[in-house]
Amino acid sequence: MRRWNGWGDETVSFPLPADALLFLEKRLGKPSPLPDASFTDVMELVPSSRLPDHPLVARTPGDRVRHARGQSLPDWLALRSGNIGVFPDGVAYPVSPAQVRALLAYAKEQQAVLIPYGGGTSVVGHINPQVMDRPILTIDMSRMNRLLDLDHESHIAVFGAGASGPDVESQLRAHGYTLGHYPQSFEFSTLGGWIATRSSGQQSLGYGRIERLFAGGTMETPSGPLKIHDFPASAAGPDLRELVLGSEGRFGILTEVKMRASSMPPKESFRVFFFPHWNNGTRALRRIVQAGIPLSMLRLSNALETETHLALAGHRRAVHLLERWLAFRGAATGKCMVTMGISGTRKLHQTALKEAVRVLREEEGTPAGTMLGRKWMQNRFRAPYLRNSLWTKGYCVDTLESAINWDRVSQLVESVEAALMTALAGEGERVLVFSHLSHLYPQGSSMYTTYLFPVAGSYEETFSRWQRLKKAASESIVEGGGTITHHHGVGIDHAPYLVSEKGPLGISSIKVLCDQFDPDGIMNPGKLVA
Ligand SMILES: Cc1cc2nc3c(=O)[nH]c(=O)nc-3n(C[C@H](O)[C@H](O)[C@H](O)COP(=O)(O)OP(=O)(O)OC[C@H]3O[C@@H](n4cnc5c(N)ncnc54)[C@H](O)[C@@H]3O)c2cc1C
Repeated sequence: MRRWNGWGDETVSFPLPADALLFLEKRLGKPSPLPDASFTDVMELVPSSRLPDHPLVARTPGDRVRHARGQSLPDWLALRSGNIGVFPDGVAYPVSPAQVRALLAYAKEQQAVLIPYGGGTSVVGHINPQVMDRPILTIDMSRMNRLLDLDHESHIAVFGAGASGPDVESQLRAHGYTLGHYPQSFEFSTLGGWIATRSSGQQSLGYGRIERLFAGGTMETPSGPLKIHDFPASAAGPDLRELVLGSEGRFGILTEVKMRASSMPPKESFRVFFFPHWNNGTRALRRIVQAGIPLSMLRLSNALETETHLALAGHRRAVHLLERWLAFRGAATGKCMVTMGISGTRKLHQTALKEAVRVLREEEGTPAGTMLGRKWMQNRFRAPYLRNSLWTKGYCVDTLESAINWDRVSQLVESVEAALMTALAGEGERVLVFSHLSHLYPQGSSMYTTYLFPVAGSYEETFSRWQRLKKAASESIVEGGGTITHHHGVGIDHAPYLVSEKGPLGISSIKVLCDQFDPDGIMNPGKLVA
């Protein structure tokens, strides 16, 4: 069973190693954790539903609580405090496009609004119901999760849009294929959610972002179905896939999607290198990606992220020995870790490794073998479970991301980190901030920043701390010329900053599309654009 107020499966945990706790206490102090509301208490707060009976709609408090919030830090604070505010009036679990169409008709009849729901892993408020006079119906797509067709010649796989990461990979792998899309939320997030938020997976360098993997499909809208062909390429005017990508449930509900699968790579490996300084690391990454060396993943952690990862590894003696050896090789204080992945044929693997290692060595990278890489691979979806353990010790953790051209990457990382580190200085609180570059392009890179801070004396004060941090970081991103989001999407939290990126004409064009697909304004109102 999935946790209702935290991350992941209830049977899985990732306890904080003792060294990591000491590391945090030294940097952030020792806060007193806040008390959690119970599921039973929260269910009692759910008001009666404003929707009439319908065979496809569940109105139980349990369904409604479980679909009230996503996974952002404000969502966590709402769930943990029990102060959730607004619940959907009902949750439907359609199994076919015909049922989705029936639900659209029912919503129209009831003057209800609809929230398409994939895995509910949004970190920016995408699926949260807003206060409104109209009833709210959440459409949970998880039962439309099957592989419907697989074209072995074209490598096109048709899926129900509610298929989660494990649904997609297990059904494709049974036929020798992979989609290769691995966001860290892989366990629960879905194809529909990935497309509607423009998601990017950990191996985007090799397989591409979701934009490259999405070939076409059907979106049921209040104005009728929008069918998008899966041509390999087309010059027939603007590409309609671009309307669906990033639409955040505002235009309609994706029911069936055509995805570009790849043959399973015969060989895949991950390995780790250390660099004496951030600047050597960024130069190496840029050279590799601009030379087109076919890696599937490349990530550079800055010095504090490297230190934090090593503290979290929990193997004190092994880490100590590694650090002594790295110091001997010139990577001591300030060292930065690079994790690299190669996926493909044995020949490609050999060539890519040789070419990449040549550049990494030229930039003073020291190889640390394949063990750390293997560990990364084994734990790639485990890290979010740490959020649960951190919470029980009184620490909040949040992340944010942007992208910018190479000439300003380091500057943006520095300014966003500085904005976060000083945002709580007025109340004498420290913030632990670290970053990495992980989705790389010949033109530039994404940046991904994690920040941890202690809970305050109450939920309200903790939320207000988060607001100050988020505002400081978002303003710094906008001022620094980065995009407000590289892969989390806009939702509610990034909506105020969208106009500085799209401009007034851009925003009004998106609104025109909302009106075109959804003239009565029933699709996920309040998200993306108000
Ligand atoms: C621990 C953690 C790690 C994460 N790591 C990554 C990462 O590595 N990369 C990344 O890109 N993101 C990441 N995310 C963010 C999140 O997982 C993505 O935004 C993901 O794409 C959301 O998918 P979902 O199925 O959970 O969608 P939901 O959260 O359910 O919905 C997100 C949006 O998509 C819309 N939507 C969902 N399904 C449909 C549909 N069928 N038709 C139309 N609209 C739909 C919803 O209305 C909503 O607006 C992470 C989140 C968490 C909590």
